[in-house]
Amino acid sequence: MRGTLKGSTIVTGGAGFLGSFLCERLLERGEDVVCIDNFFTGRKENIRQLMDNPRFEVLRHDVTVPLQIEADAIYNLACPASPMHYQFDPVQTTKTSVLGAINMLDLARRTKARILQASTSEVYGDPKQSPQAESYWGHVNPIGPRACYDEGKRCAETLIFDYRQQYGLSTKVARIFNTYGPRMRPDDGRVISNFIIQALRNQPITIYGDGEQTRSFCYVDDLIDGLIRLMDAPEETCGPINLGNPVEFTIRELADLVIAQTGSRSVIEQHPIPVDDPRQRRPDITKARQSLDWEPEIQLKQGLEKTISYFEQLLRDNDQLTLH
Ligand code: NAD
Ligand code: UDP
Repeated sequence: MRGTLKGSTIVTGGAGFLGSFLCERLLERGEDVVCIDNFFTGRKENIRQLMDNPRFEVLRHDVTVPLQIEADAIYNLACPASPMHYQFDPVQTTKTSVLGAINMLDLARRTKARILQASTSEVYGDPKQSPQAESYWGHVNPIGPRACYDEGKRCAETLIFDYRQQYGLSTKVARIFNTYGPRMRPDDGRVISNFIIQALRNQPITIYGDGEQTRSFCYVDDLIDGLIRLMDAPEETCGPINLGNPVEFTIRELADLVIAQTGSRSVIEQHPIPVDDPRQRRPDITKARQSLDWEPEIQLKQGLEKTISYFEQLLRDNDQLTLH
């Protein structure tokens, strides 16, 4: 059987926000793509435009269950990324990261496929060092409400490196920092989609805490470019490697920008800060610059414009949308 699907690339979580853009770009490059998704946070709308492409397949499957399929490359993105969604069923979130990594690594081992794990800046937890370089081991609460995601992703990294060492697999780890863009769910709950929808509706902008906490926001196109470069990079470039935009903003600055760019009449409303909310987050991308010749090209103002246009259209098409 091996050979009939030669050249096929699996994208787990391929119907999600990042995964759907990744599937699109891989198809444009001429790859055969198999999207594997259980549609927990993924949506068929995200991949509808790909369905007529004969090189694209979709498999409804939960990565916590082993899978027999042929592949040359695997991008393992399956996992809810928004705190609201990954905290909905924390046990399932940990299982998705840990069992999902084991199942995809076993598949990679059997088919001799390259595998890239979508890790996260959350492995640094509430960092005591800024910017965060890959050498930093992080500061994570192992039993807090974010632990299912943070520790699940940390364990997935451990598995990737142990399979590499023990079985000689070709592996890559990308530590993705906050990424935004069109196709984020309106009920995603993360800060960019919340603020944009609130601003477009002239509703209060919900800042959690004092708004002085920071994030560094990467536009989706830049991030996808980084993921593909990492997969294509020579074997020794295995990561972990930070992918994100190094320009840091406070959440209050973000709120001001969104209000200005939408011309909104929204006022700012303060809400309690979630437990274990990281105070600062900014990637050191020296390694990505050097080994992938990669750095983000789209700055926040420009990326927000594209994302605002997307949500404007969405709200025009459906004024019943709910926001969390
Ligand atoms: P998303 O929620 O839009 O996409 C996740 C996808 O995985 C969805 O399509 C969902 O249905 C699918 N999924 C979840 N559990 C699954 C399971 N058990 N089996 C099969 N499919 C499953 O999130 P996203 O923002 O596109 O994130 C994609 C990946 O990138 C995640 O692994 C996330 O941890 C990582 N990441 C994202 C960001 C970001 O800012 N977007 C930052 C760091 C890391
Ligand atoms: N945040 C906020 N208002 C919102 C949503 C989020 O102030 O409506 C804050 C949140 O507390 C955090 C930052 O924005 O400090 C980024 O949150 P998000 O959920 O987008 O991502 P993460 O915390 O995983 O980086």
